[in-house]
This record gives sequence, structure tokens and C-alpha cells, in this order.
Amino acid sequence: MTTSHLSVGFIGLGAMGRPMAANLSGVFTTKVQNRTTDAALSHEQEHGTLAVADLTALSDVDVVCSCLPTDAEVAEVAQQLGPRLSEGTIWIDHTSGAPGGARRVGEQLARCGVRYLDAPVSGGVAGAEAGTLTTMVGGDEAALDFARLVLETTCDRIVHVGPIGAGMAVKAVSNALLATSLWAAAEGLAALTKAGVPASVALEVFNGATSRSFATETLLPERAITREFPFTFALSLLAKDVDLAGGVLADAGFEASVLEVVRELTRAASDELGPGADHVELVRIVERAAGIELG
Ligand code: NDP
Repeated sequence: MTTSHLSVGFIGLGAMGRPMAANLSGVFTTKVQNRTTDAALSHEQEHGTLAVADLTALSDVDVVCSCLPTDAEVAEVAQQLGPRLSEGTIWIDHTSGAPGGARRVGEQLARCGVRYLDAPVSGGVAGAEAGTLTTMVGGDEAALDFARLVLETTCDRIVHVGPIGAGMAVKAVSNALLATSLWAAAEGLAALTKAGVPASVALEVFNGATSRSFATETLLPERAITREFPFTFALSLLAKDVDLAGGVLADAGFEASVLEVVRELTRAASDELGPGADHVELVRIVERAAGIELG
């Protein structure tokens, strides 16, 4: 791997940001910043990045990447860092946020001469570690051409989906579909378990049939059937995404019926299971209602 002359500043070293920044550090000079500085310091030790405590230490980078919980945190860091960046700096935002939030941050950064792309990602922690994420990019084509060098390090599929905000809209709907398939598969499997068909046997059928999905092929077999439920993507973040999808549908003047039910179920599950619950643990709500366990 060659080291490019570009320098990158990565903000947000959580479940996704940590492995993404690690992959970037193999190619670019990479500075890392996180709300809790210990995470940046341990990243420096593990991956040879340069930990910075203060956002202002990122003012000389060519490309800023952010991967924060919501667009509110992105707006906050953009307000502090934006005016200190050089004109022409590219800001790639990997956060899953609201389309309107992305447009506001894009305008705020444009006033500082900074080019913003909303580039939320899909593929989970495993995809982030492997550098095989899919990103859906909203923003200017020329800015994307410049950003490709960086994006190609963390993603193996880069889809330009429209102007600023379009990436966020696609991501929100994409995760609403993930939630829908998880709920529907969990309910179907609970019913089959009660009817005497083990969930693992039913999954074997689904996964050779047209009913298969990421939920049936990966999430349920590897996490619910095994009862492992590793924490990789907070249920509260999935609930946030399905809420955002509700906003995308409402903005389009479309009255959703399926997604509205999924939105309510996911929000209620997140409230009930709390901030420490992984997204696949919504299955526990279905199991409790059915009085069975899938594993
Ligand atoms: P995490 O909660 O694991 O990580 C968020 C990180 O952001 C934490 O390290 C947190 O710091 C840091 N942070 C929060 N506020 C600030 C701030 N103001 N300045 C600097 N750092 C800050 O989230 P994920 O990594 O799971 O998700 C990040 C985004 O990616 C979300 O929008 C999520 O929806 C999306 N996503 C997540 C996927 C997943 O599988 N996990 C998959 C695809 C997208 P601290 O250590 O102090 O908490």
C-alpha cells in the first residue's frame, strides 16, 4: 500500500469510526479526534494514527471525515472546525443523519469555502473492518471525484445518489427496510417455533427461498439463534434511522402504512430495552410476546 500525500482528520471513533480510521491510516496521514480522548489515544497506539484532543488541531487537513451519532453532533463540530479549515477542504460525513441537517451543515461549511458530502455507510462493523462498506453519497460530483481516493479506502461500493441530503435520505430508508425485515422475520419465526418448526430449520428454508434477507442470512442465525447478541449497532441508532425515514416519507407527501408501524415498534423497543441494546435485540420483544426463544 502506498502512502498518499493527502492528510485526513477523522472525528468520531465509535463502532464504525474506529475501524474506518484504522483503514485510512494505512494509506493517509491520519489524525483522529473523539469526544472521549482516551479512544483517540488508544487508536494512536493500536493503529499509528495521530491522536488530537482538540478539533482545532485538525485545521490543516485536506479531508475531514466524521462518523458521529446524529447530524446534531456534526453541526456542533462543523461550527467549531469549519471556520478554521482551508478553502477547498473536503468534509465527508459518514454519519446517518437527517437530510435537512446535512443541507444545513453543507451550507454552513460552504460559507467557509469547505465542500461537504453526506456519505453515510452500510455494511456494519464487519464491513468497516474489512474496508468493504457501501456508501451513498449526496453532493457535488467534482467534490466526490476528489473524495474518491479516501472513500475507496473504506468502501468498495460508492454510489452517487443526488445532491446534498440525498445520501442521508437513502440511508434512512435503507435502514427502515432492515428494521422491517428484522421485525417481520422475527415474528414469522416466532410463530413457526410455536407451531413446532425450529427457527434454525425455518431459516434454512428461507435462505434457499425468495424470502431471504440480510436478517435471515446473517443477523438472525449469527446473533439470535446463537443467543450471542453482540453489541455492534445500537438499537437506539436504528430507531433514529427509522424515525428519519418517516421524515423522508412525510417530506415527499407520502403517507406510509408499513414503515409507520415499524417506526413505532422500533422506537418502543429502543425505549424499553435501553441504550445498551444492540439492534438485533428487538427480537427479544417478539420472543417475550410469543413466550418462546428462537435459539
Ligand atoms: P457509536 O455510538 O459507537 O460512536 C459514536 C462516536 O462518536 C463515539 O466514539 C463518540 O464518542 C463520538 N462522539 C460523539 N459526539 C462527539 C463529538 N461531539 N465530537 C467527537 N466525537 C463525538 O456509533 P456508531 O459508530 O455505531 O455509529 C456512528 C454513525 O454511523 C451513526 O450515525 C450510525 O447510525 C451510523 N452507522 C452505524 C453502523 C453500525 O453498525 N454501528 C452501521 C452504519 C451506520 P464517545 O466515545 O465519547 O462516546
